[in-house]
Amino acid sequence: MRLLLVCFLLVSASALARDLEGGGGLGVEPAATRLDLYCLRLSYPSVTGLVEDAQGQWLLLENGQRVLYARAWDAPAPAGPEAAWVVDVRTSMADIYPLEPERPDTPLGFSPGRRRSHDLLQALYGHSPATVGEGLEQAFLLGRPVHLSRQAAQAMRRADASLREMIALQPELVPLLVIDGGFTWRRIAGEQRLSPHAFGIAFDISPHLATYWRWNPLRPHPMQKIYPSAIVEAFEREGFIWGGKWHEYDLMHFEYRPELVCKARTLRDMRAMTPQAKEGVEQKSIK
Ligand SMILES: [Zn+2]
Repeated sequence: MRLLLVCFLLVSASALARDLEGGGGLGVEPAATRLDLYCLRLSYPSVTGLVEDAQGQWLLLENGQRVLYARAWDAPAPAGPEAAWVVDVRTSMADIYPLEPERPDTPLGFSPGRRRSHDLLQALYGHSPATVGEGLEQAFLLGRPVHLSRQAAQAMRRADASLREMIALQPELVPLLVIDGGFTWRRIAGEQRLSPHAFGIAFDISPHLATYWRWNPLRPHPMQKIYPSAIVEAFEREGFIWGGKWHEYDLMHFEYRPELVCKARTLRDMRAMTPQAKEGVEQKSIK
């Protein structure tokens, strides 16, 4: 077995950007892989490295587990009715999640974050109700309790603090912030795959106002464009993505996926640092 160990370099976004713009640079991995690893390492400190064998590239976790990062091109692909949803980590991070205030259209196939590596979720959070349950903590949203996995609960506490300040100025947001469940060991409604709720990384708010694509004939749903940015931003800042940005929209659903938020932020920061962008800013300032 060919074994390749890639050391992670904890670099700032600007240093990473210089490296990526240089076409790869440090290490032997392509720029896209390096960006994924940077965000995975930052989001999940238990990820310690990357190894490669005939089946593909594997994330190493500190407890010795391995999770498929990228399947080798000639390795057997998953089969079965939901095979398209059984993805490796690289595929789960391939679609760039749009951060607020961006609110792009959601045509068929546009659901950034809806494809998940269940191997990674099981490695991070547990593979049964009992093992996931060991890592759960109680958090609150506007005084109502919710059970989430430890990191997601910590993120929820920070989001709750900022939302409490926000509703003092915008009390009309309160009806949209009624918590309706976090951890539940269940499958996705209408599908066979385990829900992210089963890993304690998702919660739903105000389902009576914010609907789900299987419950509503509208495609897209108008609320995908008008749902308050203040709420979406408050959660995105803490590493949650919003299901309202998916073709198969889930307007009530927020999910702790800090690696996707990190990747989106880093790419946005890098775009802002291109020579063209700097030139544009300079020209504006001259005018
Ligand atoms: Zn949900």
